[in-house]
Amino acid sequence: VSPLARETGRTCLGCRRQRPRAELVRIVRGPDGAAVFDLEARLPGRGAWVCPAAACLDRLAAGALAHVLRAPVLLPEPAARRATLGAALERRVGNLLGMARRVRALVVGQTGVRAALRDGRAALLLLASDLPPDTLASWREQAGGVPVRAACGSDALGALAGREAFGCAALCSPGLAGAIAAALDQREAISHGSCDNVPSMKRAGRVERRGCAPGRGEATER
Ligand SMILES: [Zn+2]
Repeated sequence: VSPLARETGRTCLGCRRQRPRAELVRIVRGPDGAAVFDLEARLPGRGAWVCPAAACLDRLAAGALAHVLRAPVLLPEPAARRATLGAALERRVGNLLGMARRVRALVVGQTGVRAALRDGRAALLLLASDLPPDTLASWREQAGGVPVRAACGSDALGALAGREAFGCAALCSPGLAGAIAAALDQREAISHGSCDNVPSMKRAGRVERRGCAPGRGEATER
């Protein structure tokens, strides 16, 4: 394995393909022996990696996980895995939006969002998926090169941010914007069957073609 591949790729325990670490979710063994999704990839100990797509979550086997984590692991049924990961990702988005709000990096409402886009402060445009289609299209156009995510309905978006419903918001912290977009993309990926059908995930195989056969060892890297 080349040093570059070590730095950039992690092997999914579901599909056994290498993907950029940012696209995958880390799994560790919790104190009670249960598998835990470590979304910030910071928990101590050995870790395994999985694509957030349904097929890869479903394909996880307790035996393979135990092998990588070097201890028996309690793994919930596939439906519960998806629900648990989805809920964890929503909590993460909520936490990140709360952080953005506290550092005044969350701008809500049309006037403020337009100003943030005009001033070049906006690092992410967050839209409610229940906005009328032409309004969504208009915002996408106004966003220019700023990334856009149409996350969920305005009520759910408001609840995530701990405030009243809103249709559009701009994230003005590049770090928080990137983390929120990544978490939303992972949550969206759960609804896709195969990881190959997830728009936000790059096609796998590029790293492998450089001649590194992903073995079980890489799946444990942090
Ligand atoms: Zn996978």
